[in-house]
Amino acid sequence: MAKTAIVRGASRGIGRSIAKRLAKDGFSVVVNYAGNKQQAEETANEIKSAGGNAVAIVGDISKPSDVSDLFVKAEQSFGPIQVVVNNAGIMPLSPIVAGDVATFDKVIATNLRGAFLVLGQAAQRVVEGGRIIALSSSVVAKSFPTYGAYIASKSGVEGLVHVLANELRGRNVTVNVVAPGPVATELFLKDKTQEKIDEFKKQNPLERLGQPEDIANVVSFLVGPDGGWINGQVLRANGGFA
Ligand code: NDP
Repeated sequence: MAKTAIVRGASRGIGRSIAKRLAKDGFSVVVNYAGNKQQAEETANEIKSAGGNAVAIVGDISKPSDVSDLFVKAEQSFGPIQVVVNNAGIMPLSPIVAGDVATFDKVIATNLRGAFLVLGQAAQRVVEGGRIIALSSSVVAKSFPTYGAYIASKSGVEGLVHVLANELRGRNVTVNVVAPGPVATELFLKDKTQEKIDEFKKQNPLERLGQPEDIANVVSFLVGPDGGWINGQVLRANGGFA
C-alpha cells in the first residue's frame, strides 16, 4: 500500500511542487488549501493524471478544528500518515513603526499558530518511522525592513521544530525545517518591481531565484530513504543566499 503524505498549502507555489514530487515518490497525497479550491483540485488532478493518488481537502491551518478534521479525513482517504509537510504560509509586509497589529496577528495566526497546531496533530498521528517538516525562510537570518512579523513567525517555527524533535524521542519520527531563500511564487513576486526581483537574484552566487521544484527536491530527500538521519535541523535551501 502507498504511504500517505499531507501537504498543508498545496494549491499552488512550493506546496504544489512538493505534493507532485511526493506523489512521484510513491506517496498518496492530501493536497490542503485555504480558499483556492480550483487550484487545489488542479494539483490533485495533475497528480492523478500522472498515475498517482491525491485528494484536495480544505482547511485553515490557524483553526484547531480544521486542522484536526483534516487529519481525520486524510486517514479516512488513505490510511495511516507517514509524512506531514507544513508548507502553508503568508507574507504581508509592514514596517514595525506602522504598528499594524491586524497584519501582525494574521501572520502569527497563520504561520506560527498554524505551525503549532499542525505540528501538534502530526506528532499525535504520524506513524513510527514518520517524517515531519515545517517551512521556515532564509530571511530569518536577515533583518530586512518590513519583514518583522514574518521573521518573528518563522523564527518561532524553527523553535517549535527543535523542541518537537526532542519531544518525539523514542518514536523514530524526525522533525526538520526547510528554509528556502527567495522562490519564484506569488508570495515572493507579489508587489515587487522587476528591478527588486533582479536584486534578489544576485543575492546568491548562483544568481537566480529558487524554483518550487528546488524546494520539493529537498523535501523529497528528507522524507525519503536517505534522509532518516537528519533530525531537529534547519536545512537552508537557498543557492547560497547569505
Ligand atoms: P504561495 O503564496 O504561493 O502559496 C501559499 C499556500 O499556502 C497556498 O496553497 C495557500 O492556499 C496556503 N495557505 C495560505 N494560508 C493558509 C491557511 N490559513 N491555511 C491553509 N493553507 C493556507 O506561497 P509559497 O509557495 O511561496 O510559500 C510556501 C511556504 O514557503 C510558506 O510557508 C512561505 O513562508 C515559505 N517560503 C517561501 C519563500 C518564497 O520566496 N516564495 C521563501 C521562503 C519561505 P490558498 O491557495 O487556498 O490560499
